[in-house]
Amino acid sequence: MTSKRLDSVSHPPGTNESEGFLATPLQFLKGVGPRRAADFERVGLITIEDLLYRFPLRYEDRSRLQPIGTLKPGRPASVSGRILSCGVRFTRRRGFQIFEAVIDDGSGPLRVVWLNQPYLSDVFMRGQRVVLYGSVEMYGSAVQLTNPQYEILDEEEGETVHTGRIVPVYEKTGAVTPRVQRNIVFDALERLPPSLPEPLPDDIPARLQLPSRYAALLATHFPPQGTSIDALNQFGTTAQRRLIFEEAFLFQTGIVARRRFAASEPKASPIRVDDRIRESARRVLPFRLTGGQKQALKDIVEDLQRPHPMNRLLQGDVGAGKTIVALVAALVAMENGQQVAFMAPTEILAEQHFLNISRLLQGSRFRVALLTGSTTSTARREQLAEIEAGTIHLVVGTHALVQGDVRFQALGLVVIDEQHRFGVLQRATLRAKGLHPDVLVMTATPIPRTLALTVYGDLDVSAIRDLPPGRFPVKTFVKPESRRDEVYAFVRGELEAGRQAYVIYPLVEESAKLDLKAATGMADHLAAEVFPAYHVGLLHGRLKPDGKDRVMKAFAAGELNLLVSTTVVEVGMDVPNASVMIVEHAERFGLSQLHQLRGRVGRDRHQSYCFLLYQSPLADEARERLRAMTETTDGFEIAEYDLRLRGPGDFFGTRQAGLPTFRMVDLVRDRELLEIARREAVRWFDRSPAASAQVGELLQSWENRFKLIEVG
Ligand code: ADP
Ligand code: MG
Repeated sequence: MTSKRLDSVSHPPGTNESEGFLATPLQFLKGVGPRRAADFERVGLITIEDLLYRFPLRYEDRSRLQPIGTLKPGRPASVSGRILSCGVRFTRRRGFQIFEAVIDDGSGPLRVVWLNQPYLSDVFMRGQRVVLYGSVEMYGSAVQLTNPQYEILDEEEGETVHTGRIVPVYEKTGAVTPRVQRNIVFDALERLPPSLPEPLPDDIPARLQLPSRYAALLATHFPPQGTSIDALNQFGTTAQRRLIFEEAFLFQTGIVARRRFAASEPKASPIRVDDRIRESARRVLPFRLTGGQKQALKDIVEDLQRPHPMNRLLQGDVGAGKTIVALVAALVAMENGQQVAFMAPTEILAEQHFLNISRLLQGSRFRVALLTGSTTSTARREQLAEIEAGTIHLVVGTHALVQGDVRFQALGLVVIDEQHRFGVLQRATLRAKGLHPDVLVMTATPIPRTLALTVYGDLDVSAIRDLPPGRFPVKTFVKPESRRDEVYAFVRGELEAGRQAYVIYPLVEESAKLDLKAATGMADHLAAEVFPAYHVGLLHGRLKPDGKDRVMKAFAAGELNLLVSTTVVEVGMDVPNASVMIVEHAERFGLSQLHQLRGRVGRDRHQSYCFLLYQSPLADEARERLRAMTETTDGFEIAEYDLRLRGPGDFFGTRQAGLPTFRMVDLVRDRELLEIARREAVRWFDRSPAASAQVGELLQSWENRFKLIEVG
């Protein structure tokens, strides 16, 4: 059991019988043979601990089963009764079968139907006692239950386990039905030693008013009479919160350990800031920083002055002005004799940054280079020599910058732009090369608080929440495809006024070819029939890099008026003159992605517009998403919303490495407990010297337990 190591930090190690109990394989429990054990194992349940640290799906109050005579349509109900009759009923519709049962609980009979589940004739028999949970509907003038979940009660055993109380309902795992699992959990809890060791530091349960581990496990699986069923189903009882907190705390201990571990590596030379450097920074600034930019810069410069490497995430919506903040930080590093690597996810973005930065640093003594795949080999050789000699101070490039043959004379700061596109291994690469520079990661994908506390938990976070002055929020409209002519008419107006437009096409992996055809067809159609007076370009991921480059440059230069593109345009493309965007099949995009796309317009003083075209019929969730887009342009709000709609696994669009595997914590639900856990973990470290001494060991078991690899 991997958590043992964590436990042993606050409790002297030693074989402890009651601790050993939790590590017992499930096979030793009553009712678990090899087959069920295999079913459990398939979902990762191997020991008694695994079993008990898995919440039920939901709870049913069977202490107050509703008498059949009092059922009201429109809300779910639990009822219990004896089967009077049951059987398959054939209907006129071919292939459509209904399994029907009538049950009676003494207060009246109730019709129950299951649609297209004829195998139920092998499950139910007249005379059985059953518990049913499902939605009550009207059928003619009587109520009926449709497709309820069911359990057949054994006359002999377990009446106190399955009825007459609040019962847990577990997820079915293979052949292990919810009812079977309830028996097994009940058995495990009966044998659970009350002296179960406490993995939380001694003072925490009392101070946070949380029950002991033993009491929490009991009350989580078999809640005492009178517990609020709503609180249980929201996983908000003190018993449940205690178990969630326990996991959150162990997790945060690891995060804090990792941070302390990183902080124990001294960096080559901390940075000093004096008036001369302040003045030099002021000279490159082309405008006044916003409040958010100032605060972020202050955070960063404070980090730079510390003796240990910075690991900071700078969040800020598209257009919030992250680049200039990073550049001032770079300037401070360079004034201290250090070199800076500035990495972008694509060559185009690297070029943009290079042009920008070169312009801003024109009057300074610092030399900037661009190093990408298209740098010629002679130029590259010269640049590499200068970087190694230290006569080039700032290098802009793609992530190959820290991987390949590039050797710095004194690399002090690494800036990583648009991190979520980047993969996760740069910092590991740096460390492997024996480098401990300050690292600033920038992202325009605002990260919800719970994810900042977990996935990015070992980074410090600064957020720019305001926008530079004079920006108008993009006006956003949701329209069915059938009204595309109106939209085109509007776009024509913008093009006539000299603006440019994007038309975005989704590209879904599985059907990439089809979509590509659709995007190509759309570009041809727009060029030939809809906007014949204008130049239309096409951009997609299958173009060769230089082809892609040519199209983007032509659009940036205004030679193309309208750009049809797949989502490759999403990251970082900066064409301030573009004022309108049409997103085709907007219903297929995630919220954060739509937000990113929309960020390509509204980058100048023109009012900008975004049309989200959808294909009917629109699913409810898609409708919600599109509505959210019209209601706010605040990326942080959108991110929180997106997390709630899609869950953490899908939040980043692709599976994000580094998402911890939690058993009890829910990243949407448990924000508050995660915050408290972080605070308590820091506090515990600060007060226990033993913990600090064991940081390395702690980390290892921790990374195994939460199946983590490093992010950033
Ligand atoms: P992002 O955060 O998306 O990387 P950028 O750094 O590209 O944003 O900035 C977007 C635009 O806003 C750039 O053209 C930049 O010069 C401009 N900008 C940034 N900060 C300010 C400011 N404080 N006042 C005016 N314009 C600013
Ligand atoms: Mg940027």
